[in-house]
Amino acid sequence: MAYVYDPQNIFAKILRGEIPNKTVLETEHSLAFHDIGPQAPVHVLVIPKGPYVTYDHFAAEASDAEIVDFTRAVNQVCELVGVRPGDGLGGYRLISNAGEAGVQEVPHLHVHVMGGRVLGRMVSKP
Ligand code: 5GP
Repeated sequence: MAYVYDPQNIFAKILRGEIPNKTVLETEHSLAFHDIGPQAPVHVLVIPKGPYVTYDHFAAEASDAEIVDFTRAVNQVCELVGVRPGDGLGGYRLISNAGEAGVQEVPHLHVHVMGGRVLGRMVSKP
């Protein structure tokens, strides 16, 4: 399957510096910033700098260096925002929405790191 990346998506604009963001962490291949509409006391988005639409796209086509960097960036964000289990009200949830069923709003891979309150169980039923 060919993945089609839209370079006009809002996170591509953030990466190009065309839209401001509240940066939590920047690494060689990844950027983490606060979500503009937080759904929890901690709500950070971690994105790769490369043009990947979804997690499966990234896992299929990113380089090993990008994948390691992104994975380690998630760890660093958890430490920086204090949601590692054991730190106060520790614990977090990672969410990566993809495509129509996943109700993905922005077509650039992002992992939501959410915490700071008890988040409830999984997803709600319709
Ligand atoms: P999705 O539904 O695609 O998984 O989530 C997209 C997320 O991006 C939403 O939680 C939304 O609040 C966030 N978002 C959309 N536009 C912006 C923006 O311009 N800046 C930031 N920081 N977050 C955004």
